[in-house]
Amino acid sequence: MKQIVVVGGGPAGMTAAISAARAGARVTLLESGQKAGSKLLLTGNGRCNLTNLDFDPRRDYASSDPENAGRILSSVFRQMSVDDTLSFFSSMGLMTAAEHGTYVYPVTGQSLSVLNVLVREMERLRVRVKFREKVTGLEKSEEGWLVRTGSWSYPCDRVILACGSKCMPATGSDGNGYQLAASCGLRLTPVLPSLSAIACRVPPFWASASGVRVRACVTALAGGREIASDTGQLQITGQGVSGIVVFQVSRMVTRALAEKKNVLLSLNLLPDMETDQIAAQLQRLKRTFESLSAAKLLEGFLPQKLIPALLNAVSIKTGTACGALSDRQAEQIAAQIRGFSLEAVSVRGFDNCQVCAGGVALKQLEPESLACTLPDSKGLYIAGEMADIDGLCGGYNLQWAWSSGYVAGMHAALDGPDPRPEA
Ligand SMILES: Cc1cc2nc3c(=O)[nH]c(=O)nc-3n(C[C@H](O)[C@H](O)[C@H](O)COP(=O)(O)OP(=O)(O)OC[C@H]3O[C@@H](n4cnc5c(N)ncnc54)[C@H](O)[C@@H]3O)c2cc1C
Repeated sequence: MKQIVVVGGGPAGMTAAISAARAGARVTLLESGQKAGSKLLLTGNGRCNLTNLDFDPRRDYASSDPENAGRILSSVFRQMSVDDTLSFFSSMGLMTAAEHGTYVYPVTGQSLSVLNVLVREMERLRVRVKFREKVTGLEKSEEGWLVRTGSWSYPCDRVILACGSKCMPATGSDGNGYQLAASCGLRLTPVLPSLSAIACRVPPFWASASGVRVRACVTALAGGREIASDTGQLQITGQGVSGIVVFQVSRMVTRALAEKKNVLLSLNLLPDMETDQIAAQLQRLKRTFESLSAAKLLEGFLPQKLIPALLNAVSIKTGTACGALSDRQAEQIAAQIRGFSLEAVSVRGFDNCQVCAGGVALKQLEPESLACTLPDSKGLYIAGEMADIDGLCGGYNLQWAWSSGYVAGMHAALDGPDPRPEA
């Protein structure tokens, strides 16, 4: 029977522990916090969007090494697909349902239910779970591995590192897992905050619209080339923009800014109307409401607090009477509504983001098993957010955690000779 130590009690680590124990290994899970799944409890606003039925790995995930990511994603999701994930949870007694067609949540509406079934399954499988056990060192020996914490050393045959990232360090994933990986000779790609708000060089009157929410299409351009686009509810902040639609484009913006590229966000604030339709409407209305101010006229097109920033961007005073607006100015307003441009300055940092881009370089991982391929790291596996793979909002990051944890746990338990065959 193989002895396996899993480092980290997040979604990836718990799934790895369960799959290794189900495959017959003796498993110890070490978690630095006082309980497992601290970040899991925060997911989906406490409701846990655990996967998504609309699934296309090539579209939903990014990496600084797309070629190896493609190989790893297709191997990992072949071994544990979205359907397999739903069966996995149902086998543990968790009922799930899809909202808005594809976003899967537990029917209880509580992420605590997801955590509870994982903990219960680890108990059933007699996984030894140790809290307040922060792993501080890993040593490779002839026999296997020695996993050191502040108070103890755990000898084992295989180690699964599932320490999360640097995002939301208060939940325990404070980036120390990267150091553990590096101490075993693994190369890291730059770790960047992703799925987060974007700070911009904000124009005059922008801050007074803080808190406004509006449906918009947000397109990010780096060096004039489109790098990401999404449509949804945009939230104006004092420093820039936020909301899920911004999180989705932030993962490409974070990479472009790290490469010192000039990034512009083009906000289409009326994505369901064409520019010439808006211009025609404005031209018709300005004739009907000649004495009305331009700002008042736009109240039927945009949230009121956004109007001063928009008019300022086309150099029109808010009090200008509609009748004094030329057709050209009406066209300029329409164009501005469909393409309000903001210069991105930064993606909000590790304390506020939802995941990290970057991590353990994928070239060093076997796609089939997620085992490290370096000669000195034989018997070491990587699961979850630690690897240089990040997903869109919508359940994709947890899906990666479940699937990569499952694959690493199963292969750690089953592959290679068993140093302790059962009598
Ligand atoms: C606010 C928020 C909302 C989110 N919502 C969603 C969502 O709805 N759907 C979705 O798909 N994704 C969501 N995510 C992302 C998702 O939570 C992560 O992708 C996922 O938790 C990663 O799982 P993991 O097991 O790899 O890492 P983590 O969940 O970070 O777990 C790592 C664990 O390892 C422990 N650890 C670290 N170092 C050590 C050490 N040296 N020794 C022992 N233990 C250690 C940590 O304490 C931690 O418990 C959200 C993230 C945030 C921050």
